Amino acid sequence: MNQSETIVALATPNGIGAIGIIRLSGPDAIIIAQKVWKGKDLTKQGSHTLHFGRIIDGDMELDEVVASLFVAPRSYTRENVVEISCHGSNYIIESIIKLFIKNGARSAKAGEFTLRAFLNGQLDLSQAEAVADLIASNSKASQQIALQQLRGGFSSQLQSLRDQLVQFASLIELELDFAEEDVEFANRDQLKKLIHEITKVIGSLIQSFELGNAIKNGVNTVIAGRPNAGKSTLLNALLNEERAIVSHIPGTTRDTIEEVLNIKGINFRLIDTAGIREATDAIEQIGVQRTMEKISQSALLLYVFDAEQITDEELISDMESLQKPGIAMLIIANKADLLNDAQLAALSQNAIVISAKEKQHIEELKQKIYAAAINEQLTGHETLVTNIRHLEALQKTEEALIRVLDGIDTVTSDFLSMDIKQALHYLGEITGAVTTDDLLENIFSKFCIGK
Ligand code: GDP
Repeated sequence: MNQSETIVALATPNGIGAIGIIRLSGPDAIIIAQKVWKGKDLTKQGSHTLHFGRIIDGDMELDEVVASLFVAPRSYTRENVVEISCHGSNYIIESIIKLFIKNGARSAKAGEFTLRAFLNGQLDLSQAEAVADLIASNSKASQQIALQQLRGGFSSQLQSLRDQLVQFASLIELELDFAEEDVEFANRDQLKKLIHEITKVIGSLIQSFELGNAIKNGVNTVIAGRPNAGKSTLLNALLNEERAIVSHIPGTTRDTIEEVLNIKGINFRLIDTAGIREATDAIEQIGVQRTMEKISQSALLLYVFDAEQITDEELISDMESLQKPGIAMLIIANKADLLNDAQLAALSQNAIVISAKEKQHIEELKQKIYAAAINEQLTGHETLVTNIRHLEALQKTEEALIRVLDGIDTVTSDFLSMDIKQALHYLGEITGAVTTDDLLENIFSKFCIGK
């Protein structure tokens, strides 16, 4: 990563638009822009100023543009930055970028502007990741969490706890230097208190992932049940429109259909599956296999049965084959419109009773779907973890801290020091205090070029 180079890329989407914005960042950004500029001398202008001028290639004028000037360190990357707003023609944009490259810039790699912002201390790693999330956000909820994380989110909180732990680590290191004298510089009670405090914060962050992930990525939800139970009809009722094909011939929904249902801001990705009864022909067999696969990849299972037709044995056998650890299951008795009051009363003890066809109790079902996936206690949570990388680092930190606590009164300083260092390492991976080239490559290569 050579930051002495000045990089250039289009910051707006490819294609024709009213304007396109080309961004230059690096020590020579302003000098390079000035080389192809007709207008006020850009090298003599202040930061955060706008200038009208012309981009020229020798004698040829390419476009009339506006240049926005950001002088280091007062920019996104903390380097000199020039943003050229030109007319949004592909030809003009390509020509200007080529011209900048001819004059000493090079093409930016994916995420390189944000990588530089991170390397220059403008953002910590989790904030840099939040930039990508913000760009990808497609709902109010996902935009809000990304923005919150961009503003510091939990990383600032973790950073200060980490700093305190660093202090202890160094005191314990000191004890190692005086090993013969058997002294204790690091007060064990205070260390315990700090570790309890950190594990509490981390534990609640780990817990928040379920909701954070649901907001960011949606909740995979499978609708399963025997043929003719009313799965397709239920899907339509939930979506309130005719999407899946409803038919009275068992086994019609041979493949899976995916639709998105939004309940209180959370996207539930509903997957209607082929029937789960013993498959009779080869095509259906594949469908049944897929159902089981889909269930194992989902977070929530809506099991639907035909309350009028199903036998107790069938019901028990379905439950046994469908129940999977870690996957919440809602048991839905359908076709309530065909039952009498006594039957309804008995069923409602153990199942959510609805009529998909008559659209009865669909709203209540939606509330139950939401409640099954989302821990309501967490919805007031200020900081949510949405990133699997953060989750894994938090879990590893927690494990290391538990080892510290377990050994605090018994093991020698050198073992204690090792476990604390591990915890520090994983905590540091979240904020970027500890990074490797692989980790950075992995994170920033997922960005688009120009960001
Ligand atoms: P799937 O095979 O599980 O997808 O079942 P479908 O949604 O195709 O429904 C099978 C049949 O049951 C269709 O004829 C539906 O009209 C009917 N059906 C679905 N839900 C209800 C319901 O709540 N009440 C009644 N009476 N019929 C229903």
